[in-house]
Amino acid sequence: METGRGCYNRGSAPTPFRQAGPAMHSPMLDLADLELPDLEAALVARGFERFHARQLYRWIHRRGVTDVAQMTDLSRRLRAMLEQDCLIRTPRVVGDERSTDGTRKLVLELVDGRRIESVFIPDTPAMTFCISTQVGCAMACGFCLTGRMGLVRHLTAGEIVGQVRVLAAATGLLDSPFNIVLMGMGEPLHNYDQTMKALRMLHAEQGLAVSPRRVTLSTVGIVPAMRRLADEPLMPNLAISLHATTDEQRTALVPPNRKYPLAEILETCRTFPLKKRSRITFEYVMLADVNDTPEDARRLARLLAGIKAKVNLIPLNPAPGIPYARPSDERVDRFAAILAERHLTVSVRKSRGRDIRAACGQLIVEGGTAKTAAQQMALLMR
Ligand code: SAH
Repeated sequence: METGRGCYNRGSAPTPFRQAGPAMHSPMLDLADLELPDLEAALVARGFERFHARQLYRWIHRRGVTDVAQMTDLSRRLRAMLEQDCLIRTPRVVGDERSTDGTRKLVLELVDGRRIESVFIPDTPAMTFCISTQVGCAMACGFCLTGRMGLVRHLTAGEIVGQVRVLAAATGLLDSPFNIVLMGMGEPLHNYDQTMKALRMLHAEQGLAVSPRRVTLSTVGIVPAMRRLADEPLMPNLAISLHATTDEQRTALVPPNRKYPLAEILETCRTFPLKKRSRITFEYVMLADVNDTPEDARRLARLLAGIKAKVNLIPLNPAPGIPYARPSDERVDRFAAILAERHLTVSVRKSRGRDIRAACGQLIVEGGTAKTAAQQMALLMR
């Protein structure tokens, strides 16, 4: 896949639509934002056979080709129509940084010039892509840099999937299995429909055929959206960003807790339909002298009783302007041991890519805060 300036397949101008002439041309159709049934409908509406949609989907998503001229099994007439009426919008790589630990952070520019970050974590054995669902984030968690940006805008499904296409091509993994974690910028359940559409697009067998078992959706716990998720036919693994064991403390660290308090989130988790052997991950960012005491650990174990849970401790990745510190390793180990004694499965997240600011909560792209985080939260809480 081209990842340079020419990755918009028609010219390089990042304008969403062809210039409207006096007679108002219809907008160009972005093929990269369509699920297979919609792609089929679009081709049929233009007088082409339905089965071409599968070929086209395979070119774009499986093979990572965005230049219609290279789609050699499509007829000339179809290619001419595609070049005339359609485009295949792909995020443009404007930054590519490699960490000493192998983590790679891509800065991607979208059609409107906004930027997001997507991270490749070459963990053994699984390769993992950490994907963004929004530009910025409205949740305003006190320890997260992205939260400082406020929400700039939601990503489209095509942009969410586009990150995976670009990462898979950049890392040579178009034909290999990989995991996806929705733990980049943004709150996936605050952009529910586009996130779910993206998961369906990634799952399509003509595309990258990503099994939902390989996808983990991480959320602050937006309860109505969690309930909706429980009914989805394609259900990803669920991770809850818990981070605190009392409502008072959690509201201070994760403001949406005011609306969706701990008891409600945990009750939703208790009744969440889980596949055999699968468990909900509870993420817990550890902040020195704030939420890392033995008493916090004991409370956490009590809260999670009766839930098929595993706990992922994330020692804070500190950043300038974040008013918290990372606890010592001893403190983290002590916390983990208390949970393990109470029969919880615990892992401590290795911090990857800190030298390139690709670690959790360190994704921020300079420039453009449409609304402050506080304004966004006010909208969300209405
Ligand atoms: N909005 C979603 C997903 C994005 S954040 C969510 O909150 O779950 C992915 C994970 O990184 C979350 O658990 C988040 O709390 C954590 N995180 C944010 N800032 C961090 C930081 N500075 N250090 C460590 N983890 C952080």
